[in-house]
Parts: sequence; C-alpha cells; structure tokens
Amino acid sequence: MTLNLYGLCGEMGDAMLLFEKMPQRDVVTWNIMIAQLVKRGDIDGAYCFFLRMPDKNVRSWTSMISAFVQCGKPKEPIDLFMKLQDEAVRPNEVTVVSVVAACADLGELDLGRSVHEYSTRSGFKRNAEEIYQFWDKLLVKMKHRGYAPKTSVVLLDMEEKEKEKFLYRHSEKLAVVFGLMTTPEGTTIRIMKNLRVCEDCHTALKLISGIVNREIIVRDRNRFHCFRGGQCSCREFW
Ligand SMILES: [Zn+2]
Ligand SMILES: [Zn+2]
Repeated sequence: MTLNLYGLCGEMGDAMLLFEKMPQRDVVTWNIMIAQLVKRGDIDGAYCFFLRMPDKNVRSWTSMISAFVQCGKPKEPIDLFMKLQDEAVRPNEVTVVSVVAACADLGELDLGRSVHEYSTRSGFKRNAEEIYQFWDKLLVKMKHRGYAPKTSVVLLDMEEKEKEKFLYRHSEKLAVVFGLMTTPEGTTIRIMKNLRVCEDCHTALKLISGIVNREIIVRDRNRFHCFRGGQCSCREFW
C-alpha cells in the first residue's frame, strides 16, 4: 500500500492525510513523502517531515541534503552532513557529491576540501568537480544531438539558467554519470528510483545511452525503462 501512495492520491493534500492516518509508517514511506515534497518545490515542508522522522536512513539524509543543494541553499546541506556523521550514518557517493557542490557554491573551499578528503579516506574515489566536468562534456554532445533542457518540469520559481542547473543535478543524471565513471566500458548501469523519472531525465538518458553506447536500466515508481542506442523500451508510454 505504502508504495502506491501516489497512485491512489493525485493531490498532495490527500496523500498527506493518508500518510498521517497510517498506523505504521516505515522509512520508505517517509522517504517518499520527502521526495514528493521536494519535487513540488516545498523544501520547508520536506524538511519538517525529515525532522519528524523517527529513524532516518542514508537515503533520507541524502535526499534532504541534495534537495537543499538543488534549490540553491548551500548552508543547510553542510550542517546536515555534520549531523549525519554525529549519528554515525555512512554517507553514499551522492551525499558526498552534493555536499562538495554545496561547499563550492558557498566558496567554502577548505570545507569542501575536507569533505573531499573525508570521502577519499572513506573509499569514495570521485568528487563533485570530476562528476560535473564529466557531465559538462556529455552535455555538449547531447546538445549536438538536439537536447534542450526541459525547464518546464521544474516547479520552482527561479531564473531559466538556475532551472537548467537544477535539472542537471537530478539524482538519476548524477547517478548515471557516476556509473559511467566508475564501471568498465560496456557495463549496464542500473538505477532505482522511488519516484517517476521526469521527462527531462528520460530524454537525457535516451541520448546518453546512444552517446556512450551503454545500456541504462532505470526502475522508477511505475515501471522499468531500458535505455539503449538512443531509445527507451517504454516507447514513450509511461
Ligand atoms: Zn529528472
Ligand atoms: Zn522510458
């Protein structure tokens, strides 16, 4: 039932009510609520949920941290990253990449460096700078193939350029780039996502699969998307 929450409820308000009435809420349900609020641009609402969560896992921390980074609030993710370490939660690559990006936005270069050092010590081999560089190169090739960022999927009130930047930081794009950098050529990249993949990421992943000649499989809320040779197995029915 929990995972179908949004299939049942078109409106966020209904989903909220349903959520509040649920006798038992597991960490997945909480994470879905947070991700959904973030997607709607309600970062404060998402943060309220996050604070109320009894047990937070690395996904909860990471979605909150990357949400703050995406909406241009770089201070909060750094605070959260500190708290996460106090609670002995082990961050994953996306957490680290988001925090380093936040440090870069704030000009906190020393702090960024220490997060990077921490990540290297903990066995993370890539940092945010490398990931974004890789993305920029990929973006040039995508634009040659007709890609134009679909900023209309961003519900937040911000400048066009900011919206583009926001889109480029969607977790599925970062995860694919990270996968491309860390797995041998030709390997299939697999990604899980709690929410439906957005239209812009769908277009981007199709193009990327053709450019890098890799199969990319995304399991989102509704179905599997298998991107290969510039096409998706769903044939746009999703
Ligand atoms: Zn997206
Ligand atoms: Zn698809």
